[in-house]
Amino acid sequence: MVVFVVVLLPAGVCRYPLGMSGGQIQDEDISASSQWSESTAARYGRLDFEEGDGAWCPEITVEPDHLNEFLQIDLRSLHFITLVGTQGRHAGGIGNEFAQMYKIKYSRDGSRWISWRNRQGKQVIEGNRNAYDIVLKDLEPPIVARFVRFMPVTDHSMNVCMRVELYGCEWLDGLVSYNAPIGEHMTLAGSSVYLNDSVYDGALVHSMTEGLGQLTDGVCGLDDFTVSRVYSVWPGYDYVGWNNESFPNGYVEIMFEFDRTRNFTSMKVHCNNMVSKHVKVFRQVVCYFRSDLDWEVSPLSFSPVEHLTNSNAHFVTVNLAHHMASAIKCQFYFSEAWMLFSEITFQSDTAMYNTTLAPSKPKLPSNTQPVDDSNTRILIGCLVAIIFILVAIIVIILWRQVWQKMLEKATRRMLDDELTASLSIQSETFTYSHNNNPQSSSVSEQESSSTYERIFPLGPDYQEPSRLISKLPEFTQTSEEPVVQDSVPHYAEADIVNLQGVTGGNTYAIPAVTMDLLSGKDVAVEEFPRKLLTFKEKLGEGQFGEVHLCEAEGMQEFMNKEFKFDYPEEEPVLVAVKMLRSDANKNARNDFLKEIKIMSRLKDPNIVRLLAVCIYSDPLCMITEYMENGDLNQFLSKHEPEGQLALLSNAPTVSFENLCYMATQIASGMKYLSSLNFVHRDLATRNCLVGKNYTIKIADFGMSRNLYSGDYYPVLPIRWMSWESILLGKFTTASDVWAFGVTLWEILNFCKEQPYSQLTDEQVIENTGEFFRDQKRQIYLPQPVLCPDTLYRVMLTCWRRNTKDRPSFQEIHRALLDKSCLTEEDNSV
Ligand code: AMP
Repeated sequence: MVVFVVVLLPAGVCRYPLGMSGGQIQDEDISASSQWSESTAARYGRLDFEEGDGAWCPEITVEPDHLNEFLQIDLRSLHFITLVGTQGRHAGGIGNEFAQMYKIKYSRDGSRWISWRNRQGKQVIEGNRNAYDIVLKDLEPPIVARFVRFMPVTDHSMNVCMRVELYGCEWLDGLVSYNAPIGEHMTLAGSSVYLNDSVYDGALVHSMTEGLGQLTDGVCGLDDFTVSRVYSVWPGYDYVGWNNESFPNGYVEIMFEFDRTRNFTSMKVHCNNMVSKHVKVFRQVVCYFRSDLDWEVSPLSFSPVEHLTNSNAHFVTVNLAHHMASAIKCQFYFSEAWMLFSEITFQSDTAMYNTTLAPSKPKLPSNTQPVDDSNTRILIGCLVAIIFILVAIIVIILWRQVWQKMLEKATRRMLDDELTASLSIQSETFTYSHNNNPQSSSVSEQESSSTYERIFPLGPDYQEPSRLISKLPEFTQTSEEPVVQDSVPHYAEADIVNLQGVTGGNTYAIPAVTMDLLSGKDVAVEEFPRKLLTFKEKLGEGQFGEVHLCEAEGMQEFMNKEFKFDYPEEEPVLVAVKMLRSDANKNARNDFLKEIKIMSRLKDPNIVRLLAVCIYSDPLCMITEYMENGDLNQFLSKHEPEGQLALLSNAPTVSFENLCYMATQIASGMKYLSSLNFVHRDLATRNCLVGKNYTIKIADFGMSRNLYSGDYYPVLPIRWMSWESILLGKFTTASDVWAFGVTLWEILNFCKEQPYSQLTDEQVIENTGEFFRDQKRQIYLPQPVLCPDTLYRVMLTCWRRNTKDRPSFQEIHRALLDKSCLTEEDNSV
């Protein structure tokens, strides 16, 4: 099967250990300048390994002016390396040698060695402080290399030993270097904007040659090129730019050299388009291809569609029409005074044309002999492609038949499971409401979609699964199958019956949709006079409208008795006031009232408390306790793990114990919800609030009020949803458990990365299909760097395919509470 690889590698997602500690890097690929003894040879320089004498140690003491000792790793192919880890020699307490500082050198071809420098030009990296702790360092900028050398550095004569690991992923672009004119500097309102390539690792004389740099560092510039994504750098840092006046031909020529001949599908160029500052996307690009030593005579030309109104920076995709090449030369024509690029990536078919067809200009050693005749290569390529396509067609036809059968079986089985599960009592209620109200159901779906398209901010965390699911072949017809939606009971509606205190199950489920909150009979909170609320500041904005911090005078009188003691008498209380936006329609209004009703019944230390409401007049408000540190997502993303990096950058930190403490509280809140048979449906760090001393409370019951099918909401948080929620519209406590696993993953990543950030929404849905098929092709979220194995195992159990195999919140809570969740021994989940 032909595989096209689309690559843009944000350094945040490409952080996999490359095999020193895991053993994937072979002993023979680890070498060193020298070794102290056989038992401290290079092969013992693996992070977290205690073999031999416990580390690699060079033969001689490292002197300040003698910096030639190194430990070298050959990764066998080009890799994008974003992080390095080092450790000293501990050897069970006998060793005490480590590198306090070190430098990194790297090479793509084994002959030209480049010294790594950070974005400020510094080469030396702070290393270890003791012989046992692992110290991780982000490589900013990341590097593209096959060979990496760790070179210990000291300021005094000392014995040094090292164990190391590299983190990153394979460099599928295959780009070895780009040659381009040197980026220029622009004067804007009297100040300078430097548009040079400040991390270019090749030669910089009259032009940039033989190197890679900012165009391949995975950082896309912002719409406003004067502002940078990178801290403490100068304006224009993210972009490389050229001025039309310096190029009499009207174009900038960039030459790209690759590791071997590839079959190119496209090139993506991230361009700034700030027309107000005379910067614009190129007018035309003309590309020439070199497959052997000769350049193809006829170039490929492409003119992007002009965005007259849109001045955002964006990727322009150039279709490279399956040209075979080991080098590409592109001429980018100016359409304005300036042209600014921040990133260029190439997509090529790697499976079809692998290293057995060696490059005409080999950059990297290859195992096989080059085939010189280009016609033969093209012929072989075509034949291989035809065979693959035929095989693929046959396989797809067979799959479809088998899958149709399996899907029917599986969904029937799940339905059976579901119906025999704990909902057996309430399912009657659901059937009643649906059977009796088929029209009202479809009407509300229509109405609601118009409501939520406007009301939901279609943020990156929420997607339209129905649109995406239709791309999965085996799910295109499921909407006609009886299995999906209509016959599957949803816990949430049953829960509301529970929460209301059942007064006759069947009759109560439908009134829940049209209940009259204003009658007060369903709400356990008091109306608060809004004139006693004093606005302090805006806290945030959600799907219903703004959330404000307010002082509430005399709040104690209106509060439910059991909360009163938490607040001092007489003093105004700080509260969060969530207001329904003024243009909300009837559906949104009803849903807001339903959320109030749900919240008014929830009482748990880890669930945000509804203190009072203002629903007698508009705008409708719910008054909840104020959580000083906002939502967990933005809280963690502003913090760093404890360690050297945080010390150096002075960033606020959160200890691992506190991370665990916060996760445990979420599990506890969810345990409470699940004991009520209540399904949250949207558990994520963004929906947990942080108070003082790392207190956590679960909030946002916006999704759980949904009484009907999954289609009711055009947008869903697919990256947090279980496969059965996405594909079958089933939301259960077990799917909340799945979301808890994702939330735990976010926490251990300090919310620095979105789940599956390297996958598009379509790919997330496809992956969901893989979870359903369960043929070991599903992709799990990777183990966060900070996450001990035991905790990662908890996550993996949350993502088990069969709902019955996932742990309950009681079990998760117990596992997290147990101190051993921090160590290797725990296996309780
Ligand atoms: P929501 O509409 O509930 O999604 O809230 C939107 C944002 O307002 C959240 O992401 C929080 O940053 C903030 N927020 C909501 N409720 C509170 C609260 N009780 N205390 C502090 N901040 C809040």
